[in-house]
Amino acid sequence: MAKKLSHGKYHLLSNLLNEADLDKKVADFVDVNGNWNISLLLQLLPLQVVHRISAMCPPIQGAADSSGWNPCMDGLFTIKSSYAAVCGLTEDSNSKVFKQIWSWRGPQRIRLLLWKICNEALLTNEARARRHMAASASCSLCTNHDESILHALRDCGSIKEVWLNFISSSKRNVFYSLSLQDWLLLNFDNCGTS
Ligand SMILES: [Zn+2]
Repeated sequence: MAKKLSHGKYHLLSNLLNEADLDKKVADFVDVNGNWNISLLLQLLPLQVVHRISAMCPPIQGAADSSGWNPCMDGLFTIKSSYAAVCGLTEDSNSKVFKQIWSWRGPQRIRLLLWKICNEALLTNEARARRHMAASASCSLCTNHDESILHALRDCGSIKEVWLNFISSSKRNVFYSLSLQDWLLLNFDNCGTS
């Protein structure tokens, strides 16, 4: 474990530590029995930080170092997590809407439908054309646009008229401009209706 004390969010500690301490590694704070050396940690860190460290498993002595991708809990790099990290996103809309779906109190078949919508797993013409299951991605009702999930559920002319009965004029711009995940969240929050 080669992570140094001066790295990461505790870099401000570098103002408090001497040069020798800054070069210490996490493994230097583990005793011969493989446990955290709490007294040594307390010499350098606030009690609440030591409490948090003691709740974690100490590094395994003698094990080889390995690289890990910090934004992912499993340490594996993904494009999605790197995009979220670059954009400064924490919990993405996708995670929030999944929680909303599974905590939603209603029929299981509707919950499954919402889950399919959220996962973009509905076989719209756009999805079918992408899988070479349909000749055209166009909406069969209006024929003016590709039939995406948002088009089928919100934007197609006939369904749009239905929504207009429920959405106040002041909220329509937002309602019709949101991405699928954010639009689902808005509906769960009941902010789009009045
Ligand atoms: Zn349409």
